[in-house]
Amino acid sequence: MRESFRKAGVPLTHQRLAVYEELAARHDHPSAESLYESLRKAYPSLSLATVYKTLQTLHTLGMVSRVDSPTAQARYDAIVATHHHAVCTACGKIEDVFDPSLDRLSAPKTAGFVPAGHSVHFHGLCAKCAKTTDKKKK
Ligand SMILES: [Zn+2]
Ligand SMILES: [Zn+2]
Repeated sequence: MRESFRKAGVPLTHQRLAVYEELAARHDHPSAESLYESLRKAYPSLSLATVYKTLQTLHTLGMVSRVDSPTAQARYDAIVATHHHAVCTACGKIEDVFDPSLDRLSAPKTAGFVPAGHSVHFHGLCAKCAKTTDKKKK
């Protein structure tokens, strides 16, 4: 991480490091707001704007990826290798899906389109929400 920052000529501040470490420790694909909520106790001087900017910087450096979510908020992921997601349309939970057969999908042959990668999203209900909907039906 230090290396990537040094190469990009971006100063690695304590706050940036804290944002990255928090994101890397979580597997729920948090939004900037959610990261800010969990960091503000330990870093009272941290602002939501700094978290946003840091995530953007990390994204530009290719150190985090962004995940499309059914809610308007961008969600972030410390895993930048090709992987896929199961997205709950009820609570917005995003789970990682690792599947080599999905990794091998080929890009659409669209004239002029230059593929840079892909990520498959499955929409549906997480285990918890599926259970709740089940109960409501009964
Ligand atoms: Zn859910
Ligand atoms: Zn992910």
